[in-house]
Amino acid sequence: MNQPQSWEARAETYSLYGFTDMPSVHQRGTVVVTHGEGPYIVDVHGRRYLDANSGLWNMVAGFDHKGLIEAAKAQYDRFPGYHAFFGRMSDQTVMLSEKLVEVSPFDNGRVFYTNSGSEANDTMVKMLWFLHAAEGKPQKRKILTRWNAYHGVTAVSASMTGKPYNSVFGLPLPGFIHLTCPHYWRYGEEGETEAQFVARLARELEDTITREGADTIAGFFAEPVMGAGGVIPPAKGYFQAILPILRKYDIPMISDEVICGFGRTGNTWGCLTYDFMPDAIISSKNLTAGFFPMGAVILGPDLAKRVEAAVEAIEEFPHGFTASGHPVGCAIALKAIDVVMNEGLAENVRRLAPRFEAGLKRIADRPNIGEYRGIGFMWALEAVKDKPTKTPFDANLSVSERIANTCTDLGLICRPLGQSIVLCPPFILTEAQMDEMFEKLEKALDKVFAEVA
Ligand code: PMP
Repeated sequence: MNQPQSWEARAETYSLYGFTDMPSVHQRGTVVVTHGEGPYIVDVHGRRYLDANSGLWNMVAGFDHKGLIEAAKAQYDRFPGYHAFFGRMSDQTVMLSEKLVEVSPFDNGRVFYTNSGSEANDTMVKMLWFLHAAEGKPQKRKILTRWNAYHGVTAVSASMTGKPYNSVFGLPLPGFIHLTCPHYWRYGEEGETEAQFVARLARELEDTITREGADTIAGFFAEPVMGAGGVIPPAKGYFQAILPILRKYDIPMISDEVICGFGRTGNTWGCLTYDFMPDAIISSKNLTAGFFPMGAVILGPDLAKRVEAAVEAIEEFPHGFTASGHPVGCAIALKAIDVVMNEGLAENVRRLAPRFEAGLKRIADRPNIGEYRGIGFMWALEAVKDKPTKTPFDANLSVSERIANTCTDLGLICRPLGQSIVLCPPFILTEAQMDEMFEKLEKALDKVFAEVA
C-alpha cells in the first residue's frame, strides 16, 4: 500500500464517507480526531473544537467521562462479550432491562436490544408485523411517519425517514406513508392559526387511516422533537390531537426517543416533556452516552403482554443481532443512565435551557435568521433570505454549510441541516462554554451573511 503522507489524504484515499458533502471535503480536508476533553474534540494537529453537536447528539457526558470509561474497563475485565440468544444472556443484560423498565414512563414492559437506532426501529416494525400476524391480522403492515422525520438508514428505517435523499436508493419501500411535518412556522398556511394547523394534521391522519383502512396500518412512529429533520418541536397540542385518533383505530404509537431520550429535552423522555403516553419507546445514542453502539426497543405494558403472548404461541421471535444485549454495552448503559440522571446532567440541561434560549433569541434578531426553535439542549437557527416572507436563500449558496464551515475554522462544531444550523451540545456544557459557543457562532453568522446578503 503506497501510503500518502497526511492524515487528511489517507482518510480520503481509503475511507468511503457517509452523509458527507464530498466537494467540501476535497476542498477543506477531513477533520481527523484523536481524542476529546469534556465537550471538546482534538484533531491530529492538536486543534480543539467545542463540539456543539455532542458527536452525533449522543456524547452527552462529553468525550472523556471517567466513570463511563471505568465501567467499560471493569466489564471488559469481567466478561467482554456475549449474546442474548437460545435462552442465555449476561447478568448485565438482565439488570439493564430491569433498569430501563424502571426508568421508562411505563408501569411494566419488556426490552429488546439492537446495535443502533436504525435497527431498533427495524426491530419494532418487524415486531409489529409479527404481532399483528399472530393476532390474525397479517395485512396490518403499513407504517405511518411524517415528512422530515429521521428514523435511520436501514432499508426499513430509511423508508420511515421522510427525507427526499432516500430516493437515490429507490426508497421508501411500498407501504410506508408520510404525513405532514408538524412545523407550524414552515408549513402553517396563510392565515391559519396553530390550533387550526394541528386540527388539519389530525384530519389528515384520520383521512389517511380511513382511506387506507385501519386494518392495514401496523403503527405510527414519531420523534417527540424531530432531530435530524432540523430540530422541529411539535406544534402546540399536536400529540394530544393525534393520539386519540390512533387509539380509536387501534394503531400503536411508537415514540422514537433516540435523540430525545435520557435528558435531551430536559426530562428523561421527550414524551414526558410533551405529555403523551406512547405504546413503545425506541432508544439509542444517549442510552450509552455514545460510549457503545447500542439500541433498545422498550415495549409498554399492552404491547409487552401481546407480544409475549404471540411469542408463546409461535414459540420464538426469530430475530436478534449477534451483539444484542452485549454485556459491555449494557454495563455502560447502566452507568450512563446513572450519570445522566444522578450526576446532575439532566439537571444541567434544565438549568441552562432558558439561558440557551435567551442567547439564541438575541442571535435571531438578525434579519437573516427566520426562526430559532428547540427545547432543552436541542436547538436550531433557520437562515432566511427574507425574514417577513420566510424566503430561503438560494440552495446553491449553501448558506448553512458555509456557516458550519466557518464555525469549524473558528473551533466550533455545529451542523447544517437544510437551511438550519443545529446546536445540541453535551449535557455537561458550562455557562462559559455556552458563551464560547455563542461568540463563535455569531462571528460565523455575521461573516457569512455579509458575504451572501
Ligand atoms: N431515530 C432517530 C430519531 C435518530 O436521530 C437516529 C440517528 N440520528 C436514528 C433513529 C438512527 O440511529 P442510528 O444512526 O444509530 O442507526
